[in-house]
Amino acid sequence: MNPLSTSWDQQAFPVHPAVSFEFFPPSTPDMQSKLWQALTRLAPLAPRFVSVTYGAGGSTRERTHETVVAIERQLGLRPAAHLTCVGAAKTEIETVARRYWQAGIRHLVALRGDPAEGAGRFAPHPHGYSCAADLVAGLKRVADFEISVAAHPETHPDALSPQADLENLKRKQDAGAARGITQFFFDVEVFLRFRDAVVRAGVSMPLVPGILPVTNFQQVQKFSARCGASVPASLVRVFDGLDADAETRKLVAAHVAGEQCRRLQSEGVNEFHFYTLNRAELTRAICHLLGIRAAAAQTISAALPDGNPAGD
Ligand SMILES: Cc1cc2nc3c(=O)[nH]c(=O)nc-3n(C[C@H](O)[C@H](O)[C@H](O)COP(=O)(O)OP(=O)(O)OC[C@H]3O[C@@H](n4cnc5c(N)ncnc54)[C@H](O)[C@@H]3O)c2cc1C
Repeated sequence: MNPLSTSWDQQAFPVHPAVSFEFFPPSTPDMQSKLWQALTRLAPLAPRFVSVTYGAGGSTRERTHETVVAIERQLGLRPAAHLTCVGAAKTEIETVARRYWQAGIRHLVALRGDPAEGAGRFAPHPHGYSCAADLVAGLKRVADFEISVAAHPETHPDALSPQADLENLKRKQDAGAARGITQFFFDVEVFLRFRDAVVRAGVSMPLVPGILPVTNFQQVQKFSARCGASVPASLVRVFDGLDADAETRKLVAAHVAGEQCRRLQSEGVNEFHFYTLNRAELTRAICHLLGIRAAAAQTISAALPDGNPAGD
């Protein structure tokens, strides 16, 4: 008998999914080194692109830029730079976008953004963009970027209604967005219902599920409350008692996210965006379960002997 359960039988899913990985820009030398270790481990999985976030309140403009450009130059991956509307005039945002274009970066993730923690609700800059759809249109006027945008399977907390949020996603597509990447979710049914509603709303661009492997369950509960993602009771039960047991938690987390991806695959989804939180191991394990192999591992480690672009 096959020792693997049917759901992990590679032959049932002969076409391996496309993947992309999201990172955040480091703020200390130690975090820099951890980021590059993670990148070095994940780069050989040949992601479609890797993206780098833009800190809440627009706080990481320079660090995001440096990280994106280093990823492109050192690893030869296709990076995507996140860019938000927060705290900047349109002219400043356009200058940032032009710098990316001049540096050879062709993919942006255009977001409204969230204010820095404790800064209250989002309020547009007096000379800025007030929503992601307008930002997409503005960026497209700068250059013909490939643009990804956020999609919210459980409705964005500021939306007037689920329908209004879907219409907003359609506006982002009409402004020139090429794909929607979803906020993380844990219930596969939530994504499937959202996918149907998105199609009914006239959105035809690809919808890529955002997968958050759980490294720290308490932190995930906090993130979820902030962005409106629900945490099913079954997930609470699965992680119950593991707060102080990182080793078991990791194994459980890989299984949970792997099953989530497999169920999505069985519904025809064949592209995933992983919120890595700058850690490689869970994402790498899940990708392995999905049949993705690190074919070019040696090439990458040869290019990066110490796993750090600055060599420190
Ligand atoms: C894949 C992904 C990556 C992310 N990366 C970052 C990041 O790097 N940095 C960061 O700060 N945040 C990031 N976020 C979080 C994101 O900035 C927040 O979710 C933010 O609150 C909303 O962003 P948005 O682009 O969806 O906004 P929008 O599409 O502008 O929507 C925001 C809200 O306004 C409503 N709205 C917009 N236009 C209208 C209109 N004309 N009429 C009525 N209602 C309207 C929408 O329905 C929604 O409720 C990311 C989210 C995702 C899913």
